[in-house]
Amino acid sequence: MSVKEYDVIVIGSGPNGFSAAITLQQQGLSTLLIEGTDTIGGGMRTKELTLPGFKHDICSAIHPMAMASPFFSSLPLDKYGLKFIYAPYQAAHPLLSGETALLHRDLQQTVREFGADGDTYLSLVEPVINNWEKLARDIMGPLRFPNAPLLFAKFGLNALQPATWIAKRFKTEKVRALWGGMAGHGIQPLSNYTTSAIGIVLAGIGHKYGWPIPVGGSQAIANTLSAHYCAIGGEIAEDYWLTDRADLPKHKILVLNLTPQQILKIEGLDLTPDFRKQLERYRQGMGVFKVDWALSNPVPFKDGRCGQAATVHLGDTFSEIARNEQLTNNGRLVAKPFVLFTQQSVFDKSRAPEGKHTAWAYCHVPHGSISDRTDVIENQLERYAPGFKDTIIARSTINTKQLEAYNPNYVGGDINGGVMDILQLYTRPTWRFTPYRTSNRSVYICSSSTPPGGGVHGMSGFHAANTVLKDHYNMEVKI
Ligand SMILES: Cc1cc2nc3c(=O)[nH]c(=O)nc-3n(C[C@H](O)[C@H](O)[C@H](O)COP(=O)(O)OP(=O)(O)OC[C@H]3O[C@@H](n4cnc5c(N)ncnc54)[C@H](O)[C@@H]3O)c2cc1C
Repeated sequence: MSVKEYDVIVIGSGPNGFSAAITLQQQGLSTLLIEGTDTIGGGMRTKELTLPGFKHDICSAIHPMAMASPFFSSLPLDKYGLKFIYAPYQAAHPLLSGETALLHRDLQQTVREFGADGDTYLSLVEPVINNWEKLARDIMGPLRFPNAPLLFAKFGLNALQPATWIAKRFKTEKVRALWGGMAGHGIQPLSNYTTSAIGIVLAGIGHKYGWPIPVGGSQAIANTLSAHYCAIGGEIAEDYWLTDRADLPKHKILVLNLTPQQILKIEGLDLTPDFRKQLERYRQGMGVFKVDWALSNPVPFKDGRCGQAATVHLGDTFSEIARNEQLTNNGRLVAKPFVLFTQQSVFDKSRAPEGKHTAWAYCHVPHGSISDRTDVIENQLERYAPGFKDTIIARSTINTKQLEAYNPNYVGGDINGGVMDILQLYTRPTWRFTPYRTSNRSVYICSSSTPPGGGVHGMSGFHAANTVLKDHYNMEVKI
């Protein structure tokens, strides 16, 4: 590794590692971004997991949060050729009754199709759609006096509620089910406070920005961030796992794109016993079990519109999803889990050989479970797409332990960097107004274990870098 002295070293090349490194480099600091594996990207990597020519997103696949991120919007990413594809439907939620709820880009069309629930749905998502530019700074940042206090308070009145409360406002099973699927992205029981926040935000930005798929896979986002970072003078070192700060090249500040569990294992960080105790108390959530398939044909959904949706939620009714999420959170393995499914090759021909397809799905499982959930996930698909199993040419699966081995940030298979419940949504990983700071003024945290939490948006990294700039360089970046 380099013998040069750096202002800042960032550890971990996930979206937040890149956003921290880019923000600091853009202000004229000298930065080095270090990645443990031989491929940059963290949760944004794409690989031939099954057969040659079938390109699978190992982690992130669908990117509403990236499109809605004020930080990503501030970068000239299209200059590097990054392109997104929009499926005809952003999300579909088929029910065993034969009905399907669709999330269209077009808000009015969605509202019309929601019939008796149209107005209720509109009242939830419209404030987010109309005011996202102002709200994003409050929703996607640390807890502080809001930039838009009235708008944020109005959003909070619904967002703070458990998804189960909001579900009672819907009259139809179809819209209630779609709501359950949206809130289910929060990976926690739907009876938890704040589970409505993720549902409202994902649906709202689905109308405003869509749920797009990057051409070539999520690796394309990582490669673009890397191209921009290197173009402005940033340096990257791969294949180096940090275990001891003393082994690093000389630097003033260290920024960690790591979860508390990794941070506690690293030597030489000089954290106070009290701060270490706070990190030890940090709570992780449910894990995921994931399957990637190489398919001979598109998935034969009973309702053909599901085959044209970026994401398909499979879990039937709201009460079925809520019950299964609760049981899973309690440590039980369920027979009909809520499955999140995507079919990138239908929209992006570069993902599979001519005429063939890729598909991606995961379900939530108890934290740390090593149970193989392939059958239950494939059975869920078969219920809504009879004949699906006959299209499978090859598959690759990953349980929570394997996921953690692949990326140690996914502790026990938790892909959000820690539970995003009311006690940890804005006060993660510790109870501080500026949770990017540690007890050591030369060590900062920028991972999804800091606000605003999981997803490919880079906002945790941006806020961590801004904290470094304020603390040490008397600067602040506004986006
Ligand atoms: C199966 C799955 C599906 C997902 N789907 C989506 C989706 O569709 N859309 C979405 O927005 N999000 C999705 N996510 C979540 C998203 O990928 C994460 O929230 C996001 O990547 C977190 O970003 P991060 O920068 O905090 O950390 P990460 O992306 O986890 O990056 C951390 C990096 O640090 C490296 N590292 C760790 N320890 C060390 C060390 N000691 N030394 C050096 N390097 C180290 C790791 O190798 C990794 O590259 C998904 C995640 C998974 C696993």
